[in-house]
Amino acid sequence: MLNNKGRPTQPAAVDSTDPQMETFTGNKGLELESPLIFEQGVPGRIGVDMAEPETVKSRLGGLDRKDPIGMPDLSEPQVLRHFVRLSRQNYAIDSGFYPLGSCTMKHNPRINEKVARLVGLGDLHPMQPTSTVQGALEIIDSLAHWLKTITGMPAVAMSPAAGAHGELCGVMAIRAAHEARGEARTRILVPESAHGTNPATAALCGYKVEAVPARKDGRMDLDAFAAKLGPDVAGVMLTNPNTCGLFETDVKKIADLVHEAGGYFYCDGANLNAILGRVRPGDLGVDAMHINLHKTFSTPHGGGGPGSGPVVLSDALAPFAPVPFVTRGKEGFDLVEQTEGAAQQSFGRMKGFHGQMGMFIRALAYMQSHGADGLRQIAEDAVLNANYVRVGLQDKLHSPFPGICMHEALFDDSTLKGTGVTTLDLAKAMIDEGYHPMTMYFPLVVHGAMLIEPTESESRQTLDLFIGAMSHLLEKAKAGEADDFLTAPHFAPRRRLDETGAARNPVLRWTAPENSDKEGTALSAAS
Ligand SMILES: *Cc1c(COP(=O)(O)O)cnc(C)c1O
Repeated sequence: MLNNKGRPTQPAAVDSTDPQMETFTGNKGLELESPLIFEQGVPGRIGVDMAEPETVKSRLGGLDRKDPIGMPDLSEPQVLRHFVRLSRQNYAIDSGFYPLGSCTMKHNPRINEKVARLVGLGDLHPMQPTSTVQGALEIIDSLAHWLKTITGMPAVAMSPAAGAHGELCGVMAIRAAHEARGEARTRILVPESAHGTNPATAALCGYKVEAVPARKDGRMDLDAFAAKLGPDVAGVMLTNPNTCGLFETDVKKIADLVHEAGGYFYCDGANLNAILGRVRPGDLGVDAMHINLHKTFSTPHGGGGPGSGPVVLSDALAPFAPVPFVTRGKEGFDLVEQTEGAAQQSFGRMKGFHGQMGMFIRALAYMQSHGADGLRQIAEDAVLNANYVRVGLQDKLHSPFPGICMHEALFDDSTLKGTGVTTLDLAKAMIDEGYHPMTMYFPLVVHGAMLIEPTESESRQTLDLFIGAMSHLLEKAKAGEADDFLTAPHFAPRRRLDETGAARNPVLRWTAPENSDKEGTALSAAS
């Protein structure tokens, strides 16, 4: 079995109740503990010594806050240390392997960051006159061109701010198209394996969501789908490759059937990484598809920046696209804020300004640094890596849908049966081994699902070590060592959190304890 050579081996599972493991400060080595930032505040302590402000006449018309807002008073080093410490406890793609299925946690190349920080781009303001931001508009236009070319679609709405926001954009365009024909359709069909955002989007747009079952091979059941179609169906929302990591082989048939019924085909494009440069969704009959720039095109997921979810649209839906959009005229680029006259079919605006400019720049830098051949290789390597993991673990874990997968390998929990170890326990033990766990219990159609997406940016060495660590844990579980799993993670700054308590009884407001005894605070961290 593979071991992480060169890394000092950890001691066996630590019993944190062992007095030997306790320290006076609560710190462990250089892993520091500190109270909540609200508990650290000392009235009157300040970070910056500024001159007394002159009394100015408020322009808030009496809406001024009269009472203190409850922010802690802190020094600059306190603030700095607090947030640096928290950032060091945060696991990120920049710190290690992050095989979270369905999320495409790939490396975010630094060339993207360098370009996004260029003075002419980093200092732009969305309210500048268009004559002063021609280069920025050209970036949006070029990215739009690449997205249309990659997907084989005629139009793209750039403003949506995430995948889910893109779904909202697509379904609003579908609704507007039906309304323009004077039709009030009421149902949207969604496969059982869909990401939760699909039914949520359809429901938010006022549609009744109807689930379509999956076949034994993990694809949508075509007969069940056809039987549900009717004149009241607005469309179908299908993910391809789907959330079981499989290509929907009947996708053209699905498109034809929904079109014959007068509905539209929304394709969830979050898994575009698997087919980049290999399949053009436009050729499959798609009417609308969001693209997660923060997945396929390597822009940061949250934290380091917002997401971005442009939506490519078919000719049928393009007239209903949201404003604003960029046009190229004789005088240069222009921003259309409103559609006029006969063309006024846009369903409106989804967001202030143009979209996530910083993400547009990063995504375009990524595309241009790879080129068309490089983008195609991304998909090929992503699929190769997922299958490497699938085959590497096939003796230890059971694949519910045998055969080659796309960009993610899906396993069920059948081989854990009788061990006393669940998917969740295994995930917690993975944290001790230094891995962000895979996606668990999703898709819902697979019992105890484990969805592993390595992405193309991981090396064979990383995958070998991961397969070795997973195999080791699975052998341990099967050897009857369940107890170790039930208390994992042992080496993380926190043990198992009370997730149910946090969801059912969230404490969202900090109140100063009666006496500032640290143990008395409502928010003292669970361990
Ligand atoms: C990530 C994802 C989404 C949602 O995208 P966000 O950018 O997180 O809103 C939707 N569908 C699938 C299949 C996804 O993987």
